[in-house]
Amino acid sequence: MPTVKKRPSAQVINYGNKYYLVDCGEGTQVQLRKQKISLLKINHIFISHLHGDHYFGLIGLVNSMHLLGRTKELNIYAPKGMTAIIDVQLNAANARLNYKIIYHELTEKQSVCIYDEKGLEIHTIPLKHRIYTNGFLFKEKPLLRKMKQEKIAYYEIPHYKINDIKEGADFIDKNGEVIPNTHLTFPPAPSLSYAYCSDTAYKEDIVPLLSNVDALYHEATFLENEKDLAKKTFHSTVRQAAAIANKSKASALYIGHFSARYTTEHYAQFLQEAKEVFEQTKIANEGDIIALRP
Ligand SMILES: [Zn+2]
Ligand SMILES: [Zn+2]
Repeated sequence: MPTVKKRPSAQVINYGNKYYLVDCGEGTQVQLRKQKISLLKINHIFISHLHGDHYFGLIGLVNSMHLLGRTKELNIYAPKGMTAIIDVQLNAANARLNYKIIYHELTEKQSVCIYDEKGLEIHTIPLKHRIYTNGFLFKEKPLLRKMKQEKIAYYEIPHYKINDIKEGADFIDKNGEVIPNTHLTFPPAPSLSYAYCSDTAYKEDIVPLLSNVDALYHEATFLENEKDLAKKTFHSTVRQAAAIANKSKASALYIGHFSARYTTEHYAQFLQEAKEVFEQTKIANEGDIIALRP
């Protein structure tokens, strides 16, 4: 529930010059403005499920984009039903947007790749909730190998060959000798990944998907003493979130989506229960910016 201090779920993932919005709870557009992220920079929106705390901000955002003169198409990835929800509101107002919305209906029960562009893939993470729900895994593609600069002059490597070599090709020198790639390059920097898992009951079979993730956001709606309630409402306790991070060998866990019964005074207890299972746990505070590659 939105309060003066807390707003429902929404996160922005920035990769290169692109901004991806994940969930769009009530008031998200105001939060975007606070963070100085232009609404028009967002071309892809991912909605985990159709509970209001994850999408009630969407029609407002869609309308503001129109008022700001957007003409570029907007991609919305969401469970079946999203199209009708937006359309009924636009139709009731007899409104026509300046731009086109492309809906990508999510129905698969298995993890699927839903976005594949230069450098980045986005996969669904099938979750276990009262209604059909997906998390989202942002995976950077393998980066280019790094050229050993001195080898360029030594083997007289022409400029146009450099990119192939960075992608892993060997080089044949002027005498016809094959110079292996490993002799010419350093391994690439490790690729990064980020996973968003909300809302979900404890679901261990997502662990292989999350393997070695650099940062994991996992809902932790309840403290451990509300374990039964968590099960009944298809949510996770903080300890369960930490167990998923631990089994996934995540580098860091961010927890949020706390039940309205808790206040910031409970954060210490959330952290304590999490850290008993997974040390690298942090609270996902509103407005926090997390740099995976400084
Ligand atoms: Zn939910
Ligand atoms: Zn929720």
